[in-house]
Amino acid sequence: MIERLPKTFHVKSFGCQMNVYDGARMAELLEAQGMSAVAEGGEADLVVLNTCHIREKAAEKVYSDIGRLIRRDDRGRPMIAVAGCVAQAEGAEIPRRAPAVDIVVGPQAYHRLPEMVATAARGGRALDTDMPVESKFGSLPARRRQGPTAFLTVQEGCDKFCTYCVVPYTRGAEVSRHWSAIIDEAKALVDNGAKEITLLGQNVNAWTGEDDTGRTQGLDGLARALDRLPGLERIRYTTSHPNDMNDGLIRAHAEVAKLMPFLHLPVQSGSDRVLRAMNRSHTTSSYLALIERVRAARPDIAISGDFIVGFPGETDAEFEATLNIVAAVNYAQAYSFKYSPRPGTPAAQMDEQVPAALMDERLQRLQALLNEQQLAFNRATLGRRTSVLLERAGKKPGQLIGKSPWLQSVHLQTGSGIGHLVEVEIVSAGPNSLAGAETMRNAA
Ligand code: SAM
Ligand code: SF4
Repeated sequence: MIERLPKTFHVKSFGCQMNVYDGARMAELLEAQGMSAVAEGGEADLVVLNTCHIREKAAEKVYSDIGRLIRRDDRGRPMIAVAGCVAQAEGAEIPRRAPAVDIVVGPQAYHRLPEMVATAARGGRALDTDMPVESKFGSLPARRRQGPTAFLTVQEGCDKFCTYCVVPYTRGAEVSRHWSAIIDEAKALVDNGAKEITLLGQNVNAWTGEDDTGRTQGLDGLARALDRLPGLERIRYTTSHPNDMNDGLIRAHAEVAKLMPFLHLPVQSGSDRVLRAMNRSHTTSSYLALIERVRAARPDIAISGDFIVGFPGETDAEFEATLNIVAAVNYAQAYSFKYSPRPGTPAAQMDEQVPAALMDERLQRLQALLNEQQLAFNRATLGRRTSVLLERAGKKPGQLIGKSPWLQSVHLQTGSGIGHLVEVEIVSAGPNSLAGAETMRNAA
């Protein structure tokens, strides 16, 4: 039992970028209470494990972390809060399985973290998995700490109910944040040093809302408004669903100068039968036609995706169809996963679960092809002059690492500082990163 208010905290986020965003907001909230952040969980009075439930392996990580924290010998165990999607999905089951947990807080309730910390400091246990979306954002302190790149959640939840996915259950129904709240947050981020903002949502391109004049806007309208924000240099967004990719957003890729040429558009499988069983509501041909339209608007756009291998009932021929769609699209970069049955989802009840060894083999073949494409994409940028936003220090003296417009990591020697946009020539290209030589130095 903990019987003191924590002075220091550490937030550890697992999983998606939306969790990274939530983790940053929880940190700001705790700092506003007078606590200070420490870099390691081992040194903190309060550890927040901001969890991911998307696949079984991700969900299990929280329990091994709790085990490590309990065994922390030198200074006694910290106050432990489990936040994020495992908290939402497992709720009271978590302290039953791991009695050392003091706080369980879902992704829509973390604005109440300070009260929950106070309860735990009095020796109690606090659990909150409510889902009141706007009240969370309305109750969080203004954005503060900021590096050159920032995430900004504009949309949460999902109504699509793909049969394999827990998100509609853990994050709730699809909700768009209000226009003015987003614009204000973007301004605060830029005032605090952000040069690039990535708009986030489980289906970010489903975002819709009314602008200041009462006109209904989509994500393209939001991108156009942010394009006019002085000091902001780059706009990105992720993750998009193929069915919400409308003409306005495609046109924005041709017209909005600050919108980066990168699109993460998961297809999941190259088999129409599997896509139907997944309840994806797009087909391989509608997806390919979409990619063609996007490329017509912005020929140099980098396409990224997500894939699941071994969905229940997936045959060899259906897996080959996934390799075929990968070959047809030619991805710049992609994520691929073995299907993981999630409790409460329809696919977990389906017959014909694919054996693990076969899934391993399929994943290896798919990843070999995707890696080949990524290397080819990177090599195609050799000799190109492009801009790089410097994000962090490299390992060598004088080396900084930044991102190209196509989200590639670029290493370079430079006298410019973090947060600067520099012009470079790409001089070498590997599978995971590029090297650049600075051609000219820009003002910050
Ligand atoms: N909303 C996005 C979309 O539909 O494209 C994806 C969001 S989800 C958090 C990220 C990725 O996790 C999915 O695109 C999918 O590839 C993968 N994923 C989701 N559930 C999974 C499961 N049960 N097993 C394996 N991978 C899964
Ligand atoms: Fe999950 Fe499908 Fe919603 Fe994406 S669209 S979050 S994969 S249910």
